[in-house]
Amino acid sequence: MILNARDKITRSILSLAKTPWLFYPYYRYQLPLPTVILIENTNCCNAHCVMCPRETLTRKLGFMEFGLFEKIMKELSGASRKPVVHLHGFGEPLLDELLPERIKLAKACGIKHTYLVTNASLLSPETARKIIQAGLDTLKISFYGTDEESYNATMRRLDFKVALNNIRDFVRIRKELKKRTPKLILQYMPQEANGTRTEEFQSLWRSVLDKRAGDCLNISSLDNFGGGRAYNLVGDRIVSVCFYPWTALSVLCDGRAVTCCVDYNGHQGVGDLNVQSVAEIWNGPVLSEIRRNFGKLDYAGCPTCLRCDWVHRR
Ligand code: SF4
Ligand code: SF4
Repeated sequence: MILNARDKITRSILSLAKTPWLFYPYYRYQLPLPTVILIENTNCCNAHCVMCPRETLTRKLGFMEFGLFEKIMKELSGASRKPVVHLHGFGEPLLDELLPERIKLAKACGIKHTYLVTNASLLSPETARKIIQAGLDTLKISFYGTDEESYNATMRRLDFKVALNNIRDFVRIRKELKKRTPKLILQYMPQEANGTRTEEFQSLWRSVLDKRAGDCLNISSLDNFGGGRAYNLVGDRIVSVCFYPWTALSVLCDGRAVTCCVDYNGHQGVGDLNVQSVAEIWNGPVLSEIRRNFGKLDYAGCPTCLRCDWVHRR
């Protein structure tokens, strides 16, 4: 399972709980470990996309120490039901030179599904070869334009031709290596800056994708990013229970765990992987109380949630 605030599956899960009373007896229970663990290898980025509130990022920039990553993977290796491991957060994961080693380690620890989202600007043939051979399972690429003008205006600081050629090379190299993984998901987010040219996006990529590898396109939509942007109207009334605390754990690059990937400034800390285990945090008092409160539609004390459009939308 892949959990991302912009994915259709995640949205469907989030929208499931619009009738909290129906599920109330279940809100106190959770699986022994998260289904998905999102590990931010870095919060550095070489882009400044229009819809991404990076200018409001207050955390120190950096990379997750390999020793900490190893500690998390070793803990998960002992679990009978291992979470899906996301290897990205609020940054560009390919800036991390240790990324192929992290993927290799996750796979060696028995993680069945590794996944990352990149802007592909640094997906050179050499890097593509490394992450394919490391065993990455799914690669999602954000590509928010259909030509130089629309792409460069949306994914500011990046270059249309560089990303386009990198993606084509990636598909070619994967074929040369006779691999069907990582599966490629190419994502478009229609918006004013790129002229909302969904059909052009589909024609640009259709012939590049390899259906046998399960490659596909994904059309996403804008969200408010926990209040970092204001694309969708947010009313006063909270109407949904957010399922993140029952499904996923997000870990920032300094090792602090937060409620979800939308909390990019780490206001909603639930633990610290430097001194705690995943199981301790997941089954501990902080997350348990958050689950109880979310079940009652009580998001007081969670400033990011209070501004998040997911729980306000019907
Ligand atoms: S590439 Fe990702 S993290 Fe970087 S600015 Fe764009 S959306 Fe934000
Ligand atoms: S900010 Fe809160 S409500 Fe929004 S997705 Fe994260 S945990 Fe859920």
